[in-house]
Amino acid sequence: MAPIRRIYGFARGSSDGNKSMKELLGGKGAYLCEMARCGLNVPPGFTITTEVCEEFYANGGMLPEALKTEVKAAVAVVEADMGLKFGDVNTPLLVSVRSGAAVSMPGMMDTVLNLGLNDAIVEGFAAKYGARFAMDCYRRLMQMFGDVVLEIPHEAFEAKLAALKGRKGVQYDVQLDADDLRELIAAYKQVYAEHKQELPQDPWQQLYLGINAVFKSWNIPRAIKYREINKITGLKGTAVNVQTMVYGNMGESSGTGVCFTRNPANGASELFGEFLINAQGEDVVAGIRTPMPIKLMADVMPPIYAELVANTTMLEKHMKDMQDVEFTVQEGRLFMLQCRSGKRTGTAALRIALELQAEGIIDRDEAVLMVEPRHLDQLLHPQFESDKGYAKDVITRGLAASPGAAVGRLVFSAAEAEEWKARGERVILCRHETSPEDVGGMHAAEGIVTCRGGMTSHAAVVARGWGKPCVCGCEHLHIDLKTKTLTFELHGAEVRLREGDWVSLNGTSGEVINGAQPLKAPEVTGGDLGKLMAWVDKARRLRVLANVDTPEDAAIARANGAQGIGLCRTEHMFFSTHERIAAMRRMIAEEELASSHKLEALEALKAFQREDFEGIFKAMDGLPVTIRLLDPPLHEFLPQEGPAMAALCRQLAGELGASVERVEARLNGLREVNPMMGLRGCRLGIVHPEITDMQATAILEAATRVAAAGGHVHPHIMVPLVATTDEMDHQLHVIHAAAKRVAAATGEKVPYKVGTMIEVPRAALQAGPLAERADFFSFGTNDLTQMTYGISRDDAQAKFLTTYTHNGILQSDPFDTLDVVGVGEMVRIAVERGRAAKPDLELGICGEHGGDPNSIAFFNKVGLDYVSCSPLRVPIARLAAAQAAIKAAAKAK
Ligand code: ADP
Ligand code: MG
Ligand code: MG
Repeated sequence: MAPIRRIYGFARGSSDGNKSMKELLGGKGAYLCEMARCGLNVPPGFTITTEVCEEFYANGGMLPEALKTEVKAAVAVVEADMGLKFGDVNTPLLVSVRSGAAVSMPGMMDTVLNLGLNDAIVEGFAAKYGARFAMDCYRRLMQMFGDVVLEIPHEAFEAKLAALKGRKGVQYDVQLDADDLRELIAAYKQVYAEHKQELPQDPWQQLYLGINAVFKSWNIPRAIKYREINKITGLKGTAVNVQTMVYGNMGESSGTGVCFTRNPANGASELFGEFLINAQGEDVVAGIRTPMPIKLMADVMPPIYAELVANTTMLEKHMKDMQDVEFTVQEGRLFMLQCRSGKRTGTAALRIALELQAEGIIDRDEAVLMVEPRHLDQLLHPQFESDKGYAKDVITRGLAASPGAAVGRLVFSAAEAEEWKARGERVILCRHETSPEDVGGMHAAEGIVTCRGGMTSHAAVVARGWGKPCVCGCEHLHIDLKTKTLTFELHGAEVRLREGDWVSLNGTSGEVINGAQPLKAPEVTGGDLGKLMAWVDKARRLRVLANVDTPEDAAIARANGAQGIGLCRTEHMFFSTHERIAAMRRMIAEEELASSHKLEALEALKAFQREDFEGIFKAMDGLPVTIRLLDPPLHEFLPQEGPAMAALCRQLAGELGASVERVEARLNGLREVNPMMGLRGCRLGIVHPEITDMQATAILEAATRVAAAGGHVHPHIMVPLVATTDEMDHQLHVIHAAAKRVAAATGEKVPYKVGTMIEVPRAALQAGPLAERADFFSFGTNDLTQMTYGISRDDAQAKFLTTYTHNGILQSDPFDTLDVVGVGEMVRIAVERGRAAKPDLELGICGEHGGDPNSIAFFNKVGLDYVSCSPLRVPIARLAAAQAAIKAAAKAK
C-alpha cells in the first residue's frame, strides 16, 4: 500500500491539485490550486489534507510525527520558488496558516498570519523592508498567535492597542509609527507574560503550533454550532493551507480587499465589495477603518482594478458561478488569495442563475441546480426589511419551525385569535402547545409561537402546511392564561407583554421579537421565477401534488403548480365550525347505531363533507384528489379532561337524552394508553363502518354533482393505517357498496380509485398482496418512520433526538429528512413488491418528507410517481424533484 499523501502544493502557474479535490483539500485549498492552474498570481504554498485532520484527532489532538518532515520538505519547495528562507534573518519567508473545509464555513475556524518572525528576524526584516512595516507584521503575529494558538483573550491585545492610540492621540493604527509599534510589541509581551505565555522564538515551532491550532479549530464550539445549524455532516475535517505571506500593509500602494463578482443581495451584474489601503487580512472585515467601495479602486489604482476585473470575470466563467474573492495588493502587484461560490439571497440566486444562463456561462439544467430550495423558500415568504435592525428587541429564540416573517398582536387562545381576526386585526397566537382544536385560531393567526414541542409538533406541522411562520419550543416564555400575559427576561430584566401587544416572529431564524417590525413583500417579478420554474418542470420526472384540506388551500396549491391533491385530511373539516364539531361529538357519544341521534349526526356530517369535497373538486378540476378516510383517534375531537369535558358531557347527555354518567363513561372509555398505536386509521372504519360509509358517500355524491355540472373529477379514496389484506378488503367492501348506492340513487357512475397508505411496516412487507387490492399506494412516512424506528413523533425531540443529533448519533432528525437507510429500505421493499404484483400501481408519498429536498432525491431514485407536500412547499418540491432528476442523469452518464 502506498503511503498516504498528506501535502499538495500550489504555486503560480502550477499546482498538484484542482477544484474537484475539495473533499481532500478543502474548498480554500482546492480553489487556490485551481486559481494557480489558471495562471493567476497566487502566493505559493501547500495544503495539508483533510485526512490529516482525521489523523490529528485519531492521534489524540497531536500532529502525526511524520508530518513535520513533510512540512519541512514542502516549505523548502516554497523557499526555492520565492528565493526566501523560513527562519532566516536576512531573507525571511513569512507564511500564513489558514483553515478551509470542503464546505465553506466563513470565519468559523482560525487563521494565523505573519508566522516566521521573532525578535531577531524582525530586525532583519526591518532592515530589508523598513521598520514600520516590519513592526506592524510582528505585532499582528503576536496578536493573532496569542489569540488563536495560546488562547489569550483578544480583548487583552485590543486594550493595549486602544490605550496606545489614546496616548498618541491617533484614531487609526496606520497612524502609529515604527517606534509606537515597538512600544506596542513591548506591551503585547507584557500581555503574554501576564498569561504565563510567550511567543515561541523558533519559527518552526510557531508553524507547527499554528497548524495544530487550525486543526483544533475544527472542533471549537462556534464551528460545531455552525455545522449543526447548517446541517453540515459527513466531513473529514478541515485542511490546513500554509501560504507565503503577501503584504497589503506595505504602504499606500498596497492594500487588501474582498469582492463578489455579482451583487449578493440583488444579483446585479457588478463587482461588489470593499478595499482597504495599507492594511492586512481581517482589517476589512473587522471594521478597523472604513474601507472604500471596490469601484473606487478604479480611480486609485486603475491598472490593478482592471486586472482584478479581468481575473474575476475569468474566474466566474471558469467556475461557472458567482465568486466571492479575497485579494491583496503588495506595492502595486495583485495577488489572489481565495475564491469560492458566493453566498447570496434568494432574490440574487434567481437573477444570477438566469443571467449566467443568458450569458452562455451555464445551461438551463445548471441554472436549475444553482437556485437552492431555501432560496426559493425565501422568495416565497414576506421578509423583514432588515434582519439586523431588530437585534436588540429579540425576546427569545426557539426552534425555527416554519420559515418566514410575521407581525401581529399577541393572543393566547385560538378563540381570541379568531375574534381579533374577525375585527380585522393581525394576530400572533402564543400557546403552551397547540392541539387540533386550535386549528381555527392557528389559521387566523399570522404566525404561531409555542413554549413546548419540537419541529414535528402539531403547531409546527400545521404551520408549515400553511406556510405560516412558526417558532416552537420557546421554553423561556411564560404564559399566564388568567392574566393573559407573557413574561420573559430581557437584558436581565423581567418583561411582561399583554394581550394585544405587538410582536414579530422570524420563523426562519426562530426569533421572537418585541414590537411590530417592518415587513416587505417578497421581491419576485413573476416573469423571472416563472421562467426558471418552466425549466424546472421540464427537467423533473416526479409529479408534485399537495396536501390540502380546504378549497382555499386547493386554489393556492394549484397556483403554485400542484398537479393534484395527494392528501386531503378529513379530520380538520370537523373542527372548522361550531356546528361541525358539535355534530361530530354527538356522533361519537351516541352508542346506538340505529338511533335517530346517530343517523341525524351522520347525515349532518355527510352534508358538511359533501360541501367541502365539492369545493375541492371544483378547485382541482381535471386533477386527481386523494381523500384520506378519518384517521385520528376519536378522543382527539374531545376537550381535555376537566371543566370543559364535564360541561360537554352534560350538554351531550341533554341532546341525546342519556344520563351524564353514561355519556361520561362512553367518552372516557375512548382514552387509550398508547393512542398512536390504538383505535385509529382503518381500525376506526372497521369498528365503525358507518363512518367509512358516510365519508365514501359524501365523496362520491360530491364527485357526481361536480361531474354533472361539467367538471372533471378524479376521486381517489385512501384508506389509512392498513396492515392486513383483510382490513383492506373490509374497507373496499364498504366503499364499493356506498358507490353502488350513490350510482343507483343518481343514475351516474363516476369512476374512482381506492388505494391505501403504507405507514406501518407490516403493510410495506405485505405490499404484494395489498397491491392486488389497491389502485395506489401512498407512503405515510411520518407514521412509517415512527413505527419502523419505534420513535414517538410527539415526545422524541425533546427527550432524546436533540441529544442524538448534537452528538452525531443521528445525522439528522428522521422526521425532517427520511432515514434512507432504514425507513427508506421499507419504502424500497414496498415499491418492489407492490410493482411486482401490479406493474401500473401508482406510487406516491404524502408525509412531511414530501417537501424535504433530500428526501425527494430518494423518492426520485426509488421510482415513486409523485410526492405530495403542503401547498406552499409545492414550488420547492418541484425544484427539488428537478434537481434530483438532473443529478441522477448526470451520474448515469
Ligand atoms: P477565513 O476563512 O476566515 O476567510 P482566511 O484563511 O481566508 O480566513 O484568512 C483571512 C484573511 O487573511 C484573508 O482574507 C487574507 O486577507 C489574509 N491572508 C491569509 N493568508 C494570507 C497570505 N498568505 N498573505 C496575505 N494575506 C493573507
Ligand atoms: Mg477567507
Ligand atoms: Mg398516518
